[in-house]
Amino acid sequence: MTSIVAPVFVRSVETALPVLQAAITQGADMLELRCDEARREVVEQILTRPEVRCKPVILTIRAKAEGGSFAGTESERLQLIRHACGLCPDYVDIEYDTWRKNPEFAGEILPLLAATDDPAEKKTKLILSNHDFLSRPTDLHQRLLDMAATAPVRIVKAAYKARNLTDALEALRLYRELPKAIRQSLVIIAMGEAGMITRILAAKYNAAFTFAVPAGGATTAPGQPTILELIHTCRFKHQQRDWPVYGVVGWPVAHSISPVIHNAGFGSIDFPGVYVPLPIEPDYEAFRTIVTAMRELRDFNLRGLSVTIPHKANAVRYLQSQSGLLDDTSARIGVINTLYFPQQGPIRGTNSDWSGAIEALRAGTNWSLTDLAHKRVAVLGAGGAARAIVAGLATLGSTVIIYNRTLKRAQELAHEFNGKTGSVSAAQLDEFGNTHCHVVINCTPAGMSPDVKAIPVDNISAIDSSMVVFDTVYNPRRTRFLQAAAERGAKTIEGLEMLLRQAVVQFEGFTGQSAPLAIMRVAAEAALDRKS
Ligand code: NAP
Repeated sequence: MTSIVAPVFVRSVETALPVLQAAITQGADMLELRCDEARREVVEQILTRPEVRCKPVILTIRAKAEGGSFAGTESERLQLIRHACGLCPDYVDIEYDTWRKNPEFAGEILPLLAATDDPAEKKTKLILSNHDFLSRPTDLHQRLLDMAATAPVRIVKAAYKARNLTDALEALRLYRELPKAIRQSLVIIAMGEAGMITRILAAKYNAAFTFAVPAGGATTAPGQPTILELIHTCRFKHQQRDWPVYGVVGWPVAHSISPVIHNAGFGSIDFPGVYVPLPIEPDYEAFRTIVTAMRELRDFNLRGLSVTIPHKANAVRYLQSQSGLLDDTSARIGVINTLYFPQQGPIRGTNSDWSGAIEALRAGTNWSLTDLAHKRVAVLGAGGAARAIVAGLATLGSTVIIYNRTLKRAQELAHEFNGKTGSVSAAQLDEFGNTHCHVVINCTPAGMSPDVKAIPVDNISAIDSSMVVFDTVYNPRRTRFLQAAAERGAKTIEGLEMLLRQAVVQFEGFTGQSAPLAIMRVAAEAALDRKS
């Protein structure tokens, strides 16, 4: 069972105690007392508080040269660690290079350490750590073997900066490939955004522990999630080795609320799977290499991907290179936002943006597809989102006018889809309002956080109470454009509805079960509220 360790900086007992207690309440299994900046008496007091010792504790006092903040000499640090080990913390964390290169350090502390795993031996157990804050050590595999061979180590831990997802996947590979005796007491953490999967999937990979901070608490290393995110969003305490992995691929991807939406859905139907953020650099080669690596990684079990900017065209190219299957509408749109990797048979791709948008429109208006086919729709923008929506509307038979800053782009898009049942024409963005439309859909980023005051059209007076205004921007939920349209009496539809409905299509493809839309909505709204 992989423990959640809450790392807490201890400067005084008064400031540390509430954070430690919050960590315990929120679900931490162990506490790491980072005493780099604590005086000797504070270390003594915190290690003897019963409300702290109700959980196993790790004592860590890291020097500046090790990435910590202990300001004294090495000799003073050694004396402090020695003294603290006399109070028998469950573990002490020592940097491997310090242990290896400073025989005095090892010699002084060794007599205080447990030599075995026997709980009857009431002594502190040794964690040997290897940190690299710049990149993945080239000799990581050998280093872990050497650390594991150093008596009396009980847990071997490596933490390094992940430059990309490949660095993170290497950690997961090592969890499976190192000798079994080492795997049982191993922690490998890839730090930073690219390494997030090593923290989230630590339970699936049976790590000894992973770090997570209490809500509002300070992180001690880049990329640490909160305890609540791990437990509730990532279903950390339920993860099993054979769980399939799903995720959202994009660059950047940290802002995406798709992990929150899909994991909430998975949890509510008890689906055995976990959904993670997967940042992949923009070029096709990076996409191909990393998706291939994830598909081949032992026990990773990649079963599905949501694909976002800038990889929607790369996903089609990859699908074609694998002789995968693509439905007709998605082929016509030319970009996809979903990949399925079934256990057997060819991979499949689809674009759920268009159907998500149409479903959002239908749900917001109670129109049937036939009703929609008889509407005149103004689409603002001619980029990826507009493309998917225009394709959907054109296939239904609606009359579409694409308004864009760059007229040529709107004309090219219109030319591509005009006559696919409906009529599609193009106009300059500042001509918006010259023709009455039943529906206006904003497919530009105007109004998106942080530029929340922006509005996609100048002449908002062209909007009236007979219209439906749909903004695909979902952060913030109520954009300035939607507010202005509502003030003019128009019916409004939020971009979150599209996001949810495209996720519903993906969810049903991932799980084979009906999506719990209401639960996914609550999770998405809470995540967006946290961002605003
Ligand atoms: P994109 O491919 O970059 O296209 C952006 C389009 O907006 C272009 O036509 C561009 O005009 C126009 N534009 C950009 N800034 C503008 C401004 N300040 N004023 C007027 N027009 C502007 O982007 P995309 O992938 O289509 O995404 C557009 C938006 O759709 C995103 O912001 C996202 O919030 C939203 N979206 C939502 C969902 C959802 O599920 N709710 C899904 C996908 C996208 P030019 O051609 O002249 O450059």
